[in-house]
Amino acid sequence: MHKHMSSHPHAQSGPSSTESLWNLALARIEPKMNPANFSRWFLPLRCIDVTNDSIIIESPNTFIKDWFEANFLKDLTLILADIVGHPLKVRIVLAPSKTTSPQHPSHQSTLATTSTSRTRSRSASPPAGRPPLPARYTFDTFVVGPSNQLAQTAAQAVAQEPGSRYNILLIYGGVGLGKTHLLCAIGNKVVSAHPQWKVRYLTADQFSTEFVKSVMKNDDRDSFRNKYRKDCDILLVDDIQFLAGKDRTQDEFFHVFNALYESGKQIVLTSDRFPQEIPGLEDRLRTRFQWGLIADIKPPELETRKTIVQRKAELAQVPISEEVATFIAENITDNVRRLEGALIRLSAYARLQGQSLTLEFTREALDDFLKKAPSTVTIDSILKETASQLDVKVSDIKGKRRHKKVAYARQVSMYLSRKLTDKSYPDIGRAFGGKDHSTVVAAVKKIEKLLTEDSATRTSVDMLVKKLTRQ
Ligand code: ADP
Ligand code: MG
Repeated sequence: MHKHMSSHPHAQSGPSSTESLWNLALARIEPKMNPANFSRWFLPLRCIDVTNDSIIIESPNTFIKDWFEANFLKDLTLILADIVGHPLKVRIVLAPSKTTSPQHPSHQSTLATTSTSRTRSRSASPPAGRPPLPARYTFDTFVVGPSNQLAQTAAQAVAQEPGSRYNILLIYGGVGLGKTHLLCAIGNKVVSAHPQWKVRYLTADQFSTEFVKSVMKNDDRDSFRNKYRKDCDILLVDDIQFLAGKDRTQDEFFHVFNALYESGKQIVLTSDRFPQEIPGLEDRLRTRFQWGLIADIKPPELETRKTIVQRKAELAQVPISEEVATFIAENITDNVRRLEGALIRLSAYARLQGQSLTLEFTREALDDFLKKAPSTVTIDSILKETASQLDVKVSDIKGKRRHKKVAYARQVSMYLSRKLTDKSYPDIGRAFGGKDHSTVVAAVKKIEKLLTEDSATRTSVDMLVKKLTRQ
């Protein structure tokens, strides 16, 4: 063991207790880990001080620090406690920077980070302000099930023959359900089939920023117009709900839309909700967004979730058993991004501890992760929390009083009921003491408007959402 330690490239020159404790810990960890990961996450660290109850480790940059803290800190703490015989607080600090800190790789949140290539070698940076089409989002890697079948089929049809059958396609659905994935899959397929085509891919937010810049710099006005109205064969706009409340951008987008539509080009949009439900969107845009095919994506069913976990595990070369895939799929039900998060965590733990992914191990490793899963929110819990936070009675909210404070609490809780549960407007009206659905619609609209203009409402709503979903 000693031989191994002294050959360690980061053997410390500090006081011998500092040096030996850290090296001892490394010596325990290394054999349990995949060598590439060990050198990636542990070797860049230096131990700079050890006291009776703490150890201070220096990281060369925030990326390594954050990743380390999220994935390895717990285990390192256990190993250190085991070595010294009592708990040690581990603090990771940043080394004084010599140069600017290296960038996060853009796909930091995906399983790609488990590959052995060095972070620094993939810094192919996107042109300013514009994401390139992420290459990993293809049809091959998209798992199809009843929840997303329609959207996937439509996306493939569009990718095969852009600008023909469904020259406008709108994909809508909740967070982390694969909208961006499908949008990019269309882009990637078109780029590879027609390399000379102009494929424009951006979020509505980026569209807005670019447009505003072009207005400020008068010369760019024409080049902006050409770029999106003429010099574009397929326009892919992600998250069009962000057009909400941006009047001038909406006006410009309206003209872009018409120009492309009239010249038979392809437009694909995604949104986190149905166009009718996007607040602050001009009617003429709403109508146009509904001219084409509208396909929704729902949260995947158990079988689909299971297949997704298995496919992602294969791609990441983390072999998992059927049992483990089922456990993850049964416990994480809300969105695919969280499924991926669980798998990333699990594989990091397994590598670190040199353990195979048994069901027992999976349960343990995902313990806190699963505790953070948003609980199912009910209208009753919304009423209770809102009443207590806004200092009114639940019975008043359900009743007919129109006192300002009560009416406000009623609107907030109706809004939350619409957003956090899957109840319809009439359902919500009934649960609020038999109110008409139009009252609920008006309340939701009112709060949506306040959320854009009133910071007190934003804070209240944010706090309630946090409490209710325990995130
Ligand atoms: P959205 O844009 O709807 O918020 P994304 O497209 O960003 O969601 O998807 C979140 C993550 O989940 C991505 O890494 C994506 O690859 C993955 N994902 C979502 N749906 C699927 C699916 N059906 N098959 C494989 N991966 C999926
Ligand atoms: Mg998205």
